[in-house]
Order: sequence, then C-alpha cells, then structure tokens
Amino acid sequence: MNTTSDLSLGRRVMALLDGLARHSDEPGRLTRLYLSPAHRDAAETTLRFMREAGLDSHIDPLGTVVGRMSGADPDAPALLIGSHIDTVVDAGRFDGTLGVVLGIVVAETLRAEGITPSCPIEVLAFGDEENARFPTNLSTSYALSGRYNPTWLDGRDQDGVSLRDALIRFGGDPEGIAGIARNPARYKGYLEVHIEQGPLLEARNLPVGIVSAINGITRARATVTGEAGHAGTVPMTMRRDALAAVAEMIGIVERAGSTRTDTVATVGVAQVQPGAINVIPARVDFTLDARSPDDAVRHAMVEDIVSECEAAAQRRGVSLTIEPFMDSPATPMDKDLILGLEEAVGTIGVTPLRLPSGAGHDAVAMASLCPAAMLFVRCKDGISHNPAESITVEDADAAARVLVEAVKKLTAGAPR
Ligand SMILES: [Zn+2]
Repeated sequence: MNTTSDLSLGRRVMALLDGLARHSDEPGRLTRLYLSPAHRDAAETTLRFMREAGLDSHIDPLGTVVGRMSGADPDAPALLIGSHIDTVVDAGRFDGTLGVVLGIVVAETLRAEGITPSCPIEVLAFGDEENARFPTNLSTSYALSGRYNPTWLDGRDQDGVSLRDALIRFGGDPEGIAGIARNPARYKGYLEVHIEQGPLLEARNLPVGIVSAINGITRARATVTGEAGHAGTVPMTMRRDALAAVAEMIGIVERAGSTRTDTVATVGVAQVQPGAINVIPARVDFTLDARSPDDAVRHAMVEDIVSECEAAAQRRGVSLTIEPFMDSPATPMDKDLILGLEEAVGTIGVTPLRLPSGAGHDAVAMASLCPAAMLFVRCKDGISHNPAESITVEDADAAARVLVEAVKKLTAGAPR
C-alpha cells in the first residue's frame, strides 16, 4: 500500500540522532554512562525534543525522560514507547537512542497530521540499560514496574562513586524512586524499536524484523582438574590433560548451540594452569553462556552439555565440576502486539520476519509492567557497541513508518 516514501521521517530521525550524539563524556568518541554529565545533557536535549513535539515532559527521579501526549480519553490505558539514552564506552550512536528518537518522531507525526489518539501515549528515555557504569542493569525501567531494589543505590562505579551519590549529583532524587512505579492497569502496552545488533536482517535483505522473544540465559562456571606432568616425558596414553579435555568440551558446547533452533552457546573464558609451554595442563577454569528464546529448550541444551561433558571427563580420567550461577528466563513478546507490528510491517511492503533477541533490552523490564513488543532495525554488518554502528536513512524511515502505523492502529477509534 504505502510502499514508497520521501524519506522525510528517516531524515528527521537522523537529525534528532545527530542532536543526541553530541553529548559524550569523552572527547572524540561517544561514551554516555548512566548519571554522567553527558547523560544529563542528553536527557535535557531529549526533554527539549519532547517539548517541541508537544509532549508534556519531565525527567523522573532516576533520570528517565518521560513525555506524555494526552488522548481523547485521558483515563484510557496508555501506550508506552521507549528505549535508552545511556551507552557503553566508545559506543555507536544508534543503540538505544534510535528507539527514543522514533517515539518522539511518532508524536511529531501524529501532531502534524492532527490526530488525537484514543488513549495517552508516553515516550520514555531510560538511563541504565548498558550495565556499563554501576553493577545495575535495567534499573530505570524496572522502577516503572515497581521492581527497583533499594540496595542498587549502594552499587559503586570503578571510581568508588555510589549510584546514590551519582544520582544526587545528576539532579535525581533517591527518595522519589518508589513514586516512579506505575499501575499496570493504566498501560496497554510498551513498544521498543532497537537496532538488531546481529546480522540476520541484513542476510535476509529486510529493513526491519519483529522480535519473538528476548532470549533467556543460563551461565555456569566449570573446572576440569587433571594432572600436571613433563610435556616431554609423559607418554600420550598416560596423560590426564585438563586442557585437551576442555577442548573436547568446547566442541560439545559449540555443537549443542548449533544443532537447535535459535540457540547459542559459548565458552568465553578458559584459564589454564599452570600455563607453561613444557607442562601438561593440570587445571582449566572455563565459563558457559547458553541462550534461547525458549526456556525448556535452553534447559534441555544445558542438561545435554553437562552430561556429555561429564562423559568426556570420565573417558579422559579428569574430574569436572560445573556450577550454574545464573538462570534468567526468556521474555516472550506479547502475541497481539507482535501481530500489530507484523501488520504495520506489511503496510510498507515488507515481509514480516520474526526473530529472537540475543541481547537483553528495557523491554525485559517493561514486560513485567504490561504487554511488550520490539521491532528490530537492520544495522550494518550486525555491528553494535562500536563506533562503526550504522543504519541507513532508508531503514530509519521504514522503522518510523512501521511505528507510526502500529501506533495509529493501537490508539485508533473510540476508547473502550
Ligand atoms: Zn540497547
């Protein structure tokens, strides 16, 4: 139907992104950590963008920028649109910020077209998604669902500054956190647009895709203990080489991740002791990170990995301990919102593709408040957390048109 565009929305998105990319804690590269001076500046700029778009806006006690457009029925459950404006160190300019800017562009578009939504629309710019400064993760979005843990305020950055002190310096208010929590009955859904951070959309030649679920993660620490010996004198048949055993286990992990749908499994750390060129390795400590959009699939995969690694250890005469230390469930996206996004993707002439998210997002926290869904935007070579992060104006435009369509549909008609 509406398959051609003058790219005006895409250009507007890029202009707003330019406005936010100026705010960095480090000259010459983009670093915007939670509650830093650059975060404050970016929050102020976001606040200005929201006000210019006609939104009733403020910065909440944890630094989230909130902009509200009233609806025909001001008491109808509101639609939320958001993402984050904090970044990693030496970041790209799209991760998070794109989703915030798109929310503002939707508000501008509705206003320009003279559309009053049936329910209020709120645009949110969260501040603590990247886990790059404090030990916290998604703290600003969890606050909305009433899940802010006050002990998070005692977390410290690498300079020893507590989150509480940083928040006060930022102009926030630790006493006001409880007041951020929202009543789930007042919200109909949360939409987040984000760069894919992976290569799938590019491989499929699609500008956007719809997230099916945000992957759950199981993590474990493992230790294999064998026996040290002289690399020159101990015959191959009489060795208990811990590293050779782990090499086999890494193969098991890789196969386990590769042979199931949408799963990934990684050994990211392996420390060898004693670590000398002429000594048979006696001990290896390694890690496992296994992810899947389906909790049952992930648990079965991890069970298989454990039993196959135990069998390998037994065959080789080494001992193995595996200690899981994290099991974070998958977050399925809301079925009705997924259908709404798919329909909107169809209206711009693009085939809707569902894909899981391998990375966590504010939508994980928001799904504990209300139904949540995400739209991914193709990024060059799947690169993120890197200044080379890049999207095209055409894809930004496609994402904006999809979001405008979806929001119009979700907020159309007489409120019930
Ligand atoms: Zn992000």
